[in-house]
Amino acid sequence: MTRAVLMPDEVEKAERLNLSVCRQGKQDLFALPCAYHVDKKCSIYEERFKVCGGYQCEMLKRLLAGEVNLDQALEIVRMVQRLEQEIYQLLGKHDASKSVWDLFNEFLNTEHNTSGEALKSHPELLLKARMLSLLGNKYFEPKLDAELNAAVQPLRASIPS
Ligand code: SF4
Repeated sequence: MTRAVLMPDEVEKAERLNLSVCRQGKQDLFALPCAYHVDKKCSIYEERFKVCGGYQCEMLKRLLAGEVNLDQALEIVRMVQRLEQEIYQLLGKHDASKSVWDLFNEFLNTEHNTSGEALKSHPELLLKARMLSLLGNKYFEPKLDAELNAAVQPLRASIPS
């Protein structure tokens, strides 16, 4: 997810908060990751937007449906956080204004990575990105997997089955 939808009466507040707001069709959106996500929580919780209050990731839906218990859900969240940190380390970058996928795609799109050659020589990065994508796909945000699959398409042939 790279943008979140604003209600019409929230646009002014988003702009006042210096969020990057854009219009797509008839919807106003603000860019994610959100600058107010600090220390793993919302730093403007009382002022957060309606979309934030109503959002349920796949994991929360599974938890509420009794498909996973709280311990299992927290363990998966910790696993995802560890993988993200490891990917940031392998990329040698951590920019709070960008998602791990933004940075991963930047890595893929650097001049010497256009053919995927650099990723072939970074199998650990590819493996961790793939694991993160699979966990994201299963538990959090199905769109992530499509984004990553598109990003690593040039490497498919080089991955042993
Ligand atoms: S919950 Fe808070 S940190 Fe998260 S997107 Fe909404 S305003 Fe930003």
